[in-house]
Amino acid sequence: MDIDELVQLVKKYQINPHFRDEEVSFRCCELALSALLSGNYGVGAVLLDADGQVLIEEKNAVFSTQFCSSAHAEMRVLDRYEACFIKEYPAAQLKLVVSLEPCPMCLSRILLSGIGIVKYVVEDVAGGMVSHMSRMPPAWQNLASLQSFYHAHVSPELRQLAKELSQHNLTYLRTALLQQRSNGA
Ligand SMILES: [Zn+2]
Repeated sequence: MDIDELVQLVKKYQINPHFRDEEVSFRCCELALSALLSGNYGVGAVLLDADGQVLIEEKNAVFSTQFCSSAHAEMRVLDRYEACFIKEYPAAQLKLVVSLEPCPMCLSRILLSGIGIVKYVVEDVAGGMVSHMSRMPPAWQNLASLQSFYHAHVSPELRQLAKELSQHNLTYLRTALLQQRSNGA
C-alpha cells in the first residue's frame, strides 16, 4: 500500500462506536500517519487522565530535524508528562494508548514511569516487548505487576489500519537507521 492510499484510508475511516477504545486509538493512528508523512516510523501515542481526557499526544520523531534514537512516541509522551504534569496527575491513575505494541526501550520506560494502564492497538511481532514480559528481569516484572497491559478494544478494521501504518516504509527506515549508526548525521 502506498502512502496516498494510507492517507485516504485514514481520511475515510469511520469510528466504530461499538468498541470502547476506538476513538483514542484512531487518534493514535492519525498521529502515526503524521509521523510517517514527516519521514518517521508510523506510531502515535496518547496519554489520558483518570476521566479519559487527553493530556498529551505524541508521535514518533526519530528522524526529525536531528536524529534522536529515543524519540519513540511513548518516550516523548513520558518526557512531557514528567516535565509538565507529574505533580498534578499521579501516574498510577493515567492511561497510555499506543498504536503499536511498545518496544523493549519503551516498555522499560513505561514500567519505570508507573503509568497505570497501557493499551496498544496492534502487536509488533518483530519488535514488541509486552508479549514477552515474562522474559524481563525479576525486578522489572515486579514493577509490571502494579500496572495493566491490554490490547486496545477496537474494530478489526482499525487494528489493520494501525498495522499498515506501523509497517509502512519499514525497509527504508531500517536502512536509514543503519546508515545513521555507521556514518553519523
Ligand atoms: Zn519504542
